[in-house]
Amino acid sequence: MPMSRILVADDDPSVLESVTWLLKENGYEVVPTNGGAACLDQLERRSPDLLLLDILMPDADGLQLLERIKSDERWRDLPVLMLSAQPPEDASVRSLGLGAADFIRKPYRPKELLARVQAHLRMGTVLRATRLALVRTEEALVRAQQDADSRRKLVDILHEVTGDLSVSELFHLLVRRAARALGVSHCSVVLARPGEASAVVVAAYENPKLQQLTIQLDRYPELKAALDSGQPVLVEDLDTHPLYEGVRHVWGIEGIEIPIRSVIALPFTIERGQYGVFLVRRTRDQEPFGASDLEFAQAVITAAVAVIQRAQMVESTMADNARLEQLAQTDPLTQLLNRRALTERITAEMERALRYDSTLALLMIDLDHFKRVNDTYGHLVGDDVLRDVAKLLVDTIRVSDIVARYGGEEFLVLLPETDDAGAESFADRIRAAVEEHDFTDSGEHPQLRLTSSIGVAMYPAARIESVEDLFARADAALYRAKADGRNRVRL
Ligand code: GH3
Ligand code: MG
Ligand code: MG
Repeated sequence: MPMSRILVADDDPSVLESVTWLLKENGYEVVPTNGGAACLDQLERRSPDLLLLDILMPDADGLQLLERIKSDERWRDLPVLMLSAQPPEDASVRSLGLGAADFIRKPYRPKELLARVQAHLRMGTVLRATRLALVRTEEALVRAQQDADSRRKLVDILHEVTGDLSVSELFHLLVRRAARALGVSHCSVVLARPGEASAVVVAAYENPKLQQLTIQLDRYPELKAALDSGQPVLVEDLDTHPLYEGVRHVWGIEGIEIPIRSVIALPFTIERGQYGVFLVRRTRDQEPFGASDLEFAQAVITAAVAVIQRAQMVESTMADNARLEQLAQTDPLTQLLNRRALTERITAEMERALRYDSTLALLMIDLDHFKRVNDTYGHLVGDDVLRDVAKLLVDTIRVSDIVARYGGEEFLVLLPETDDAGAESFADRIRAAVEEHDFTDSGEHPQLRLTSSIGVAMYPAARIESVEDLFARADAALYRAKADGRNRVRL
C-alpha cells in the first residue's frame, strides 16, 4: 500500500514542526505549509490524502478556506481535520457544518491526533472507492439503458423473423427492418466467398423485387475489404476515404455520380464457407454514419445471423425429415411404396369408402415360379425383373391407384372407387401385361417370360374389418389362383 500523504497547514512554526515530525515518525508522507495560500497551492500540486488545517492563520480564515476546498469537486472527498485552540463547541460545530471530517483541539494529544488521522484516512479510502463504484454503476446503468433501447429495436426488427420463413425471405425482411431502424436509404445483404471476384446481392431494401444480382467486387471496395479482413468497415465519407481512391478515379473517367456518402460493411459467416456482408449506406443528404451506428448495425446482423442459422437448420432438418420419411415409406429395390406405407393408405381409403358409400379393391399379385428365374439366371437378374414388374405396374395403373411391394415377388395394387367387376377386369389387364411383357431387356439374358397370379379382395365386405383382414382375403384368393393353375385372377 502506498504511503499516505498528509498536508499540514499551520502558521505556528512549532506546531507545524511537531505535527510534521510526529506524522513522519508514524510512516506518513508529510507536506508542511505555513499559511492559507501555500495550502491551496500544495493541494493542487501534491493531491494529499488528508489535510490537517489550522483554523486561525494570519493570511486566511481556516473556515473560509475549508468552505472553498469543500466546494471544489476535486477535493470533495478529501478528509479535512481542523486544528484549533478556539473553544471546541463553537469551532467544531462550525467546521463540521462546513464539511470538515473532524475537529482536534490544540494543544493536541499525539495519540489522539494519530488515531483520528488514521481513521479518516481509512474512511477517505472507503469513500473514494464507494464513489468510484457509484460512478461505475451509473455508467453501467446508462449503458444498460442504451443496450435496452437498442435491444428493443432489435426485438422489433427480429420480431417477424421468428416465424417459419425461408432463408431468402429472412434476408428480405432483415434489410427492410434494419433500413427502417437505422434510417438508411440503402441496405442489402451480399453473399460471397472470400477470394472470389464476384458476389451476389440476395436482398436490397432499395430494390425489394431483387432476387439474385451478381456484382463485381472491384467496384465495391468496402465489400472487398470487409470480406478480405473479416472486420467491419466504416466509411464516413466516400469522397475522402482512401479505400475509394481507385474507384473514385474510375467514377471520374466514366462520369458516374455516386449518391452515396457514407457506408458500413459488416462481414458475417452463416456457416463454414458461406460468407456475407451486411451493407448499409446513406446518401449525401443524410447524416454520415458514426461509431454508434456501426455498433447497432453489428448487433442487428449478429442477431439476424443467429435467426438465419436457425432457419437454415430448420430448412435442412425439414429436408432431412422429408427424406427420412420418404426412405421409411419406400421399398429400396423397386422404389414403390413399402407394405407399411401402403397399410396407412389402405386404412385411409377404407374409411373414405365407408364415408362416401363407395367400394375399393385390393389386388395381390404373385409372380409364378419366380424361384426359377433366380435359380437359372441368378439373383441380380431376379432383381432386375422385379424392378421391371414394378415399372410395368406403375405404367398400367390410374393416377388414383396405388402400387406397393408387399414383399419378395409379391405386389399390391389398391384401386379406390372400383367395384368387383372393374377390379377383376383391371386385374386381368395386369395379368395379361405381365404375360405379354418381354423381360429379356431387363437384364442381358436369353428370352425371359413370366406369368403372374392375382387375388382380388373387395371392401366393404362381410367379416372384413381391418387392413389385415383385407390382406388375408386377397391372399386366400391368390392361393386359389395358384391352385387353379397360375396365370389367372381369382376373386
Ligand atoms: P409360385 O408360383 O408358387 O409363387 O412360385 P415362386 O417360385 O414364385 O414362389 P416362392 O415363394 O417359392 O419363391 C419366391 C422366390 O422369390 C424365392 C425368392 O428367392 C425370390 N425372391 C424374393 N424376394 C426377392 C428379391 O428381392 N430378389 C430376388 N432376386 N429374388 C427374390
Ligand atoms: Mg410368393
Ligand atoms: Mg411366386
